[in-house]
Amino acid sequence: MGDPIGVAVLGATGSIGTSALQVLRLQGTRFRVVSLTGWKQIDALGKLVDEFSPALVAAAPQSAEDAGLDFSPESQADYYVGGDEGLVAAATHPDVHTVISGVSGAAGLQSTLAAVRAGKRVLLANKEPLVMCGQLLRAAAAQSGACLLPIDSEHNAIFQCLPLEAQRDVAAGRGICAGPEGPGVSRIALTASGGPFLRTPASGIAKATPNEALAHPTWNMGPKISIDSATLMNKGLELIEACTLFGLDESQVEVIIHPQSVVHSVVHFSDGSLIGQMGSPDMRVPITHGLAYPERAPSGVAGIDLTEVGQLQFELPDLERFPSLKLARQAAKEGRSAPIVLNAANEVAVQAFLDSRIEFGFIPEIVDRILQRHEPGEVTELAQVIGIDREARIAADDIIRRILH
Ligand code: MG
Repeated sequence: MGDPIGVAVLGATGSIGTSALQVLRLQGTRFRVVSLTGWKQIDALGKLVDEFSPALVAAAPQSAEDAGLDFSPESQADYYVGGDEGLVAAATHPDVHTVISGVSGAAGLQSTLAAVRAGKRVLLANKEPLVMCGQLLRAAAAQSGACLLPIDSEHNAIFQCLPLEAQRDVAAGRGICAGPEGPGVSRIALTASGGPFLRTPASGIAKATPNEALAHPTWNMGPKISIDSATLMNKGLELIEACTLFGLDESQVEVIIHPQSVVHSVVHFSDGSLIGQMGSPDMRVPITHGLAYPERAPSGVAGIDLTEVGQLQFELPDLERFPSLKLARQAAKEGRSAPIVLNAANEVAVQAFLDSRIEFGFIPEIVDRILQRHEPGEVTELAQVIGIDREARIAADDIIRRILH
């Protein structure tokens, strides 16, 4: 056995980070946690620091000291306080080979891009880097030789269904080859559980409370993504992610409701074959796939008994009750800066809903208003992405304030 593989876990106390650390515990000495970052749950981060003794820790200002993290020069670890600087340092540490990018929201953007530029293996769990600056990430990977591995379960499923050569192209930022030399992918189908409001009438959805919206039937996830699953914006963002990562046109990506969450996505090939990936709805499966790729390793998750599942259902999503999905498709079609604006407006609206400032039905309404008045333009650098994101947030905040008056 060689040296342990150095891993950075960005967002170690979040939903993805927690699953990733479970897998890393199971894998024992094959991996070493080199850097850990956390933000709000500083006590939990402190415990992880004691357990894994990372070389670098990044945490939120103030709360880190409050939690007794050791900032003295004698400390075993390098400590960073603050947002982007600490995340970037954690992602690009020279001993890090693999970065698990599980910081939710737009906060993980810079660190993910930095990891790609540094030529790391980057396990993409958070959607924002691909949604907001996917082309920049792909170009950076092609240049640095980084390896991009999707661990959002649907994209990981699509990736697993591709032949090895096409997997290499996607990981290198080249997307799936469309020509006669390519693998013959005609389209892909992203599956969606349908969320907690799959059978709820439109009037009930509009007035849903945060607790109702947070109760996801099959996946256990953080609050932002749970709300996105309830509006189906999560699937909309995944549609954009898929277009970018796999180099597909929006018309080649369909969304199908599959309430059992057993089939995680399907690739349609030109000869009429469909290949799908199945498994328990547990993030440890795609995380383990990304960590061990191209090998297989135990994830701690048991396989499913198909006879126990019994039936698998598939149906089309109702775009009238779930307009967020329609908006995301519009942004995917427009491309360029449109997905940045969609994502920013949605993030602001979801937070306002979680803070009980607006009703659930207003989330797509706000996104719609921001998207319709945006004039999409080309995006060539991160500073531009951040500027467009900031403007859209301000505009969304403004609309929310006007709704409240
Ligand atoms: Mg997903």
